[in-house]
Amino acid sequence: MKLTEVEDQIYVMKSSTNAAKVLQTIAESGVKDEAFYILDIGTIIHKHHEWLSKLPRVKPHYAVKCNDNILVLETLAALGVGFDCASKGELNKVLSLGVAADRIIFANPAKPASHIRHAASLGVGLMTFDNETELHKVKELHPDAKLVVRIRCDAAVSQCPLGMKFGCDAILEAPHLMKLANSLGLEIVGVSFHVGSGCQDPPVFRKAISLARGLFDLGFELGFNMHLLDLGGGFPGDSSSSIDRIADIINLALEDYFPPQTNIEIIAEPGRFYVASAFTLATNIHSKREIYSTDKELLHTMYYINDGIYGSFNCILFDHYTPTPIPLTDSKSDQVFSCSLWGPTCDALDRIIENSFLPKMNIGDWIIFPDMGAYTVPVASTFNGFPIPKVYAVVDEKIWPALKDCAPLTDDHFAVYHSPASFGIGDYSPKWPKGMDSDEFEEPHPY
Ligand code: PLP
Repeated sequence: MKLTEVEDQIYVMKSSTNAAKVLQTIAESGVKDEAFYILDIGTIIHKHHEWLSKLPRVKPHYAVKCNDNILVLETLAALGVGFDCASKGELNKVLSLGVAADRIIFANPAKPASHIRHAASLGVGLMTFDNETELHKVKELHPDAKLVVRIRCDAAVSQCPLGMKFGCDAILEAPHLMKLANSLGLEIVGVSFHVGSGCQDPPVFRKAISLARGLFDLGFELGFNMHLLDLGGGFPGDSSSSIDRIADIINLALEDYFPPQTNIEIIAEPGRFYVASAFTLATNIHSKREIYSTDKELLHTMYYINDGIYGSFNCILFDHYTPTPIPLTDSKSDQVFSCSLWGPTCDALDRIIENSFLPKMNIGDWIIFPDMGAYTVPVASTFNGFPIPKVYAVVDEKIWPALKDCAPLTDDHFAVYHSPASFGIGDYSPKWPKGMDSDEFEEPHPY
């Protein structure tokens, strides 16, 4: 099959360029004024190597919900990563890549009946639960499932706590659920937890692993073949973050509670770790409003950009994200001014940053947001008719030979990057005269 859609392909860059330069040339071509992403596939590969070296006993199962971009999934599948799916739709998406059903954990403790039936029909057996009714559903719809009991163990601080929704108490509830599963003739194979996404409390992993140990012992007593420990997600992913401390704590706790000779398979469900820093968003200022004092002093500038809360920046609401705006072009002066950033829709809720300080910017200027890969695009809507930014994927020419023959990636997935025209973007005649500030346009002002 020949892949022809720009967003289905990975563009191979000469090593003399890089993702940041590609972004810059697209923006500066002056032809495109819609927001867009650059996805650097090399970052995902680098993250995978980091994971393997820092958490060698833990097999990653990427949490698809975090960013279901097809090239991300194909790259991770090519690298041999497993998948955490939350629904029928995610199962279908991952299985359509040719990923074997036994590389998937259906990690949603509260699943609609039709989704359980669907998993059974596809041969996906591994799934989590945390309550009695789920056990009865599974008994009826998928009695051969391999069940993983999800316990609650919350980080003291995390970007998105999950414990109020999922996870049973390891001491007060899990033993009862395990006994019930036993009496229903169901099979429990392991224990999972999720300490909270964007965990800022690394020691919580040790606590959760020790709680899991107690339930493994109970499981063995009940006659279950307990062989899977699932550490969930919570691993940070921004370019400034590190998983070193979490990894040290996990490795030591595994050594203490699940040493290698126990032969327990350890998996985790990282989402943001793999994708957050691989995506950089470029947005364009399409309008601005200046607020002056009565004596004509500029007090504040409102910049309107072409992606907002209803698009990628939904992550401010749903993922408690704090965006960092970076003007694409270095300012000639060090002076910064009070400003706010607004999305393109007609809703006043569509405010990205209430108070910031940026150099003086003009219509047509670009603002870059790094670390925008986690919980952004899959949640975005086209409210008010504004499109979701296109994703242009690039990879360094030194990396692609190692990827091009790893299924599901094929030669056809790769195209050569020459210039923005490779992405079908324009012909380069700058629409916006270079070096000219919008203030300098002759009257009548076009905006
Ligand atoms: N696993 C489950 C069950 C989740 O609900 C989530 C996120 O909500 C993840 C994994 C991914 O978490 P993170 O992005 O923090 O790694």
